[in-house]
Amino acid sequence: MDDATCCCICSGRQHGVEVHNIVLNANKEPSDCLSILRNEDEALFPDDEFLFADPRLNGLVLDLDRLQVNAEQTTLYVCHPCNGYLPRFLMPCYALANRLYRGHFPEEFQDLTWIEERVCAKFTNTAVVTRHYQSSDSSQSTCSTAIHAHTR
Ligand SMILES: [Zn+2]
Repeated sequence: MDDATCCCICSGRQHGVEVHNIVLNANKEPSDCLSILRNEDEALFPDDEFLFADPRLNGLVLDLDRLQVNAEQTTLYVCHPCNGYLPRFLMPCYALANRLYRGHFPEEFQDLTWIEERVCAKFTNTAVVTRHYQSSDSSQSTCSTAIHAHTR
């Protein structure tokens, strides 16, 4: 998969989701709506954690690998769900800036499998979706769902 289709705000790789390009021209200030992505947990991360080649983005919690910087312009690749929140100055729910960023893996852990990551993770999320049927008639389509989740 091409990395350009990933989102710099949520770091998500979503199949079939439209990706928008937010282009910042070299001589123009970025939109104020990006300020919602500013790092609020300054004590948790080193000072240089959120420094970018384009200094206008410094301090924003963005995935460095999902933006493109050159002399003429900077392009942020943003998924459709995240792009829907920004013009309204709302924090995208899956944004790294929404206290979901936990840092980088050390170099020696870069090639871990998914299960190895789960075993040694400081934080893991578990979500279970259950359906609650209100009738014993299987032809009834009325049901409700509930999500039970926790973070360890
Ligand atoms: Zn996104």
